[in-house]
Amino acid sequence: MVMILMLPIGCASRGLYIKNLIGDAIHNLIDGMIVAVGFLISISLGLAVTVAVLFHELPSR
Ligand SMILES: [Zn+2]
Repeated sequence: MVMILMLPIGCASRGLYIKNLIGDAIHNLIDGMIVAVGFLISISLGLAVTVAVLFHELPSR
């Protein structure tokens, strides 16, 4: 976050960093909501959804 603020305003990379940060935050929020709903329905579904979310995160890391 601090690195983004250190980039000069108008720098082309700054806009990309901010969009990436916002997109990643929304992505992680939705992932958390999906896991929470899974656990609200049942423990076994929550565990299955957690594993599914972990596996879909692996290629992006
Ligand atoms: Zn995800």
